[in-house]
Amino acid sequence: MERFRTIIEPFRIHSVEPIRMTTREERGRHLEEAGSNLFRLHADHVAIDLLTDSGTGAMSAEQWAGVQRGDESYAGSPSFYRFEAAVKELFPFRHVIPTHQGRAAERILFSQLGGEGKTVPNNSHFDTTRANVEFTGAAAVDLLIADGLDPSSEHPFKGNMDLDRLEQVLETDDVPVVFVTVTNNSGGGQPVSLENLRGVRALCDRFGVPLFLDACRFAENAWFVKQREPGQGERAIPDIVREMASYADGMTMSAKKDPLGNIGGWLALDDDALAERCRTMLILTEGFPTYGGLAGRDLEAIAQGLREVVDEDYLRYRIKSTAYLGDALHAAGVPVVRPIGGHAVFLDARALLPHVPPLEYPGQALAVALYREGAIRSCEIGTVMFGRRADGTEEPAPMDLVRLAIPRRTYTQSHVDYVIEVVAWVAEHAGELGGMRIVDEPPQLRHFTASFAPL
Ligand SMILES: *Cc1c(COP(=O)(O)O)cnc(C)c1O
Repeated sequence: MERFRTIIEPFRIHSVEPIRMTTREERGRHLEEAGSNLFRLHADHVAIDLLTDSGTGAMSAEQWAGVQRGDESYAGSPSFYRFEAAVKELFPFRHVIPTHQGRAAERILFSQLGGEGKTVPNNSHFDTTRANVEFTGAAAVDLLIADGLDPSSEHPFKGNMDLDRLEQVLETDDVPVVFVTVTNNSGGGQPVSLENLRGVRALCDRFGVPLFLDACRFAENAWFVKQREPGQGERAIPDIVREMASYADGMTMSAKKDPLGNIGGWLALDDDALAERCRTMLILTEGFPTYGGLAGRDLEAIAQGLREVVDEDYLRYRIKSTAYLGDALHAAGVPVVRPIGGHAVFLDARALLPHVPPLEYPGQALAVALYREGAIRSCEIGTVMFGRRADGTEEPAPMDLVRLAIPRRTYTQSHVDYVIEVVAWVAEHAGELGGMRIVDEPPQLRHFTASFAPL
C-alpha cells in the first residue's frame, strides 16, 4: 500500500446513520426558527454536521464491546480501574479523577486554584475554560505567539506560548497555575512543540507555579510533533505523549475529543492535597471518585478509545483528511488558517467578507450561508464567541473565523468533496452576504443561545 498516494479511511462501516436531505426553502424556515443560531437547529435538519468534533466521533466495534463489559458498581468498578490504567499509560499522574466532561474538571480545579486578583495564563483559553476561570473572579489571559494570530503564517507550531510575555505575567501577577492547551482549539487547531513546553516548564519551575495541560487533542498534537519537530520523526506516539505529560503537574481533559468517547472527561494531577480537595468537590456535583458522573460503560469506551487514538494509521488518516479539505479550499482561493490544523479547518471570514465589519459578525454571516446553501453546520469562532468582555463592553475578537470541525471517523471523502464544493460556491458569492446583529443574548457564553437577525 505504501506505493500509492491515496490515504484511505483505515476502517470500514459497520452500522450506518441516515442523512436527511432538505430544500433551501426548508432551511430558510429552520434558520428563522433557530434565530439564525446554528446551535439551535435540530440536528436532523443538517446534512453534514461540522459544528464540533466534540463527542461526535464514531465508536469502534471494540469500544461497543467495552460498553457491554461496563461494570456499573457504585464504588470500585473494574471499569474504573481499566479507565485509570489507560489514562496513566499515557499520562502517568498520581491521581485520575473522572468527570462527565472537560468543563467539570475545569470547574473543580479552578474552584480550588482561582479567585479574585489571580491570573491564569494559557496559550489560548477554550471558551469553557475562560468562563470557568472568570467565574471564580480570576483573569484569563491568552499568551499565544504572534504567529498564532496571523492566519497566513506557516509557522509549524502556531499553538506555542509566548515565553517572554509569560515571564512578564509571572513576574507581575498572582498566578496559581499556568495552562497550555494542546492543540490550540480556539486558534486554529495548531500544535505546541515539545521545545515550547520545555520553555514553559522552565519558567514555571523558576516561579514555583504548577503547569497543567488542557490536553483534549494530545494525540493530534503528538502527531504534529512527530512530523514537524526536529529529531522526533522516529518516535512512537505514546512516547511523545508521555514526554508532553512529563512537563506538567496535571491536566484537564475532555474525553469527547481525542479519547474517542461520546461523553466524559477527567482531571489528573500529582499533588496529593489538591487532589483530595478536588475529590471532595467531585462528590458534591459529579459523583463518587470511581465514576465521577460517568457510567461504567463510558469509562470502558474511553479506555479503549485511548488505545485507538494513538494508532499511527488512524492519526495519519485523521490529519491527512483534515488537510485534504483545507488544502482544497486554499487551492480554490478561499482564505483559511494555515497550516491546516488537526481537528478542523478554519475559514477566515474577516478576509472573505471584508465589507462586513467585525461587530456585524462576518463569521456568523458566513456560517449561516453555509447552512442555507448546503445544509452544512459550522461554528463561528470570533466576535460572537469572544467579543463580549467580562465588564459588559464589546470589542472585535482577534480573528473572525468559521470552524469546520471534523468528527472523528464519521464522514467519508465524498462528504468532504461536497463540503469543498459548497464552501467554494459560497466564497464566490461572498460579496452578496450582509452582516448580522444580535437580537438578544444571555450574559455569558452567548454564542450558544443568542438570536441573530440579518442587517
Ligand atoms: C472541548 C474542550 C474543552 C471542554 O470540554 P467539554 O468536554 O466540552 O466540557 C476544554 N478545552 C478544550 C481545548 C476543548 O476543546
